[in-house]
Amino acid sequence: MSANNTKSDFNWAQWRWISATTANSTDKNFAKKEQINTPTNSTTATTSAVSPNTSMSVNNSQSLANALSTNKINSAALNHGACATLPDWVLAVKKSSAPNAVAVKTLVLKPKGIAGTDVLVVAARADAEWSTNPLIKLLGGKEARAAQDDLILSTLKLNRIDVSPFALANVDAASKPTLLFAIDKSLASAPQLAFRNFSASDSIVVSGSDLISFVKSAGFTPKEFDAAQIGAPAAAPSAPASGKAKQQKSAATTSASNDEGVMIGITVKKADDFPSWYTQVLVKTEMMDYYDVSGCYILRPWSFKIWAEIKKFFTAEIEELGVEECYFPMFINGKALEKEKDHVEGFAPEVAWVTRAGSSDLAEPIAVRPTSETIMYPAYAKWVQSHRDLPLRLNQWCNVVRWEFKNPQPFLRTREFLWQEGHTAFATKEESDKEVLEILELYRRVYEEVLAVPVVPGKKSENEKFAGGLYTTTVEGFIPTTGRAIQGATSHSLGQNFAKMFEISIESIEEGAPQGSKSFVWQNSWGLTTRTIGVMVMVHGDDKGLVLPPNVANIQVVVVPVGITAKTTAAERAKIHAFVDEVTKLCKPAGVRAKADTRDVYTPGYKFNHWEMRGVPIRLEVGPKDIAKNEVRCVIRHNGKAQQLAFPTLSTSLPALLAQIQSDMFEKAKKERDSHVIRVEKFEDGFVQILDKKNLILAPWCERVACEKEVKERSQRIALAGEAADEKAPSMGAKTLCIPFKQPTENPVVPGKTKCFACDHNAVSYTLWGRSY
Ligand SMILES: [Zn+2]
Repeated sequence: MSANNTKSDFNWAQWRWISATTANSTDKNFAKKEQINTPTNSTTATTSAVSPNTSMSVNNSQSLANALSTNKINSAALNHGACATLPDWVLAVKKSSAPNAVAVKTLVLKPKGIAGTDVLVVAARADAEWSTNPLIKLLGGKEARAAQDDLILSTLKLNRIDVSPFALANVDAASKPTLLFAIDKSLASAPQLAFRNFSASDSIVVSGSDLISFVKSAGFTPKEFDAAQIGAPAAAPSAPASGKAKQQKSAATTSASNDEGVMIGITVKKADDFPSWYTQVLVKTEMMDYYDVSGCYILRPWSFKIWAEIKKFFTAEIEELGVEECYFPMFINGKALEKEKDHVEGFAPEVAWVTRAGSSDLAEPIAVRPTSETIMYPAYAKWVQSHRDLPLRLNQWCNVVRWEFKNPQPFLRTREFLWQEGHTAFATKEESDKEVLEILELYRRVYEEVLAVPVVPGKKSENEKFAGGLYTTTVEGFIPTTGRAIQGATSHSLGQNFAKMFEISIESIEEGAPQGSKSFVWQNSWGLTTRTIGVMVMVHGDDKGLVLPPNVANIQVVVVPVGITAKTTAAERAKIHAFVDEVTKLCKPAGVRAKADTRDVYTPGYKFNHWEMRGVPIRLEVGPKDIAKNEVRCVIRHNGKAQQLAFPTLSTSLPALLAQIQSDMFEKAKKERDSHVIRVEKFEDGFVQILDKKNLILAPWCERVACEKEVKERSQRIALAGEAADEKAPSMGAKTLCIPFKQPTENPVVPGKTKCFACDHNAVSYTLWGRSY
């Protein structure tokens, strides 16, 4: 192989570690389109485009008070104690010092068919149930769905929960013509209206006429409608509601169209609007927050702990294997890249460059690592001289940057992400082959044992493998809600390609080799990213929010005092708190991460919702009746089951219960995944239809590159106009996910006899196909 050829392979490959996920990013038209459509991008744009009248920007209670006073509007602040749900809030306002104020919920909708209108903000009575569709029809449109969080953030500059009509002051000039404000006319004339004031325990009261004048001064003409007239009884939830969802009492979760004014909690159902559900879960559980550089997100302690647990598990395991930790710089000498201009083009759009320091331009621009082969392998060439220097097995935990233009998705596709990258070198192919599988097995265990997420280990097809390597192994996950597969982690055999490129060689030890001759080393590379966290959220989460497997839960057990009323004496209260303390204290020696929620300002109900949404595996309730029996009440997050646990045996029953939960969660997810893997013997037997029903397909395949390409094209559904951007309607073609190591034992491939499902060649293996993230 000529040096040039090797180089060309190498350079293409090194930037495409996860080739499957970046495949489209070089399509410039696609990138351009995405840039315009991407909500996060428009968020970035708006930070510089916030209306020039910045004194009007409303983003906390103080700035709201300022904005009202600038407009000479009288207002009253109400403090009524924290409310967990919309009905709680309506009640709290009624009991407050302004009992006649009408609590107002603010809905943000994305209407279809109202010319020129992208966003519809509706102010309506919080205690009224009505369907939004008659209103949309009244406004000349067809239908509407809840606006996604990203859209709300980019237009109104607030998180959904904080939106009130006052947020209209935040809309920049460019967006104003595309936003419509509608208000129930009974509100417009009401003497007192209450709005949520940026916290669960505070409201602000203004008159209807003052609200109207505020909205007008922000540049909007309010559209009044008669809610009483269009107020048909609220429609039943559009999607089949699960039994569990029906039990939910709060209006927050009873109807997708009525959910906007909720205080806390997840306001959309996982099955109804998966993208919104996902972002709400991440933001509201405080796993992640937005950041003003598009495609970058803040990982908060609630998610970073999960990463820390993954890191702990994996580090201990690879140390056992003999891998050592190290750290290489994040910058790459730009000159090295310049030399290979021809090949740079393919990945150039994704590489971020440092071109300036302070106010002076750098003599040579420096690239930020999108992966570390070019950084590490020159050093490997220096360190490896003879077989005594092998094996060389290094791993680093670090960040990498890939400036993608595809729609970013927290954890799944971000411009900066965290990962570990292992880079190893061996004297023989046998040793390197062995390691590829050992590492893959660890990745399987990270998913299945640490995160309780089932994966399929297997080998990538020629099309899907890491282009510069010999072969790629992978663990493939599955998201049942969307029916899409997701690549979990990959372990690559690089063969000798990189060794030849970087001249990593040793004196030949092969028998009969001439004295002093060289042989190239055999290399592997393997990586696992923070994507793991996103997959875990998507697989286990439910309509109430996050569901954490005990092994990665920041808090495994939350202890909540209950049964304290106005009549409770100080002594009784002290007794309950003392018991809560005792329960919490015995957890640590038992290896259980526990926390007591003794906050006085919140009701037990509020705390239940709070920890349930955050996915804490076990809630223990301690009340007078439990204490009398020397017991605690235990509620399990993932299945809602409750039981009494004896206090004296908690230090053994809790760890056992956590282990049980971990294994139940895995079994449940596996059962669901398995039910979505369908065997198909011929393409014509409904290959596309089965995929459309959110399944993966296991089919006998010839393993030919041309055949895979053809299947991809054949299965590409023609995207209907307007449907293309809808996450719920994946229209892309199917590809191979992997050739599972565990082949079916029932009716396996018979060599020379079993035909490929898609062409007239013989099948080589059963291969897993699907649409993929
Ligand atoms: Zn074929």
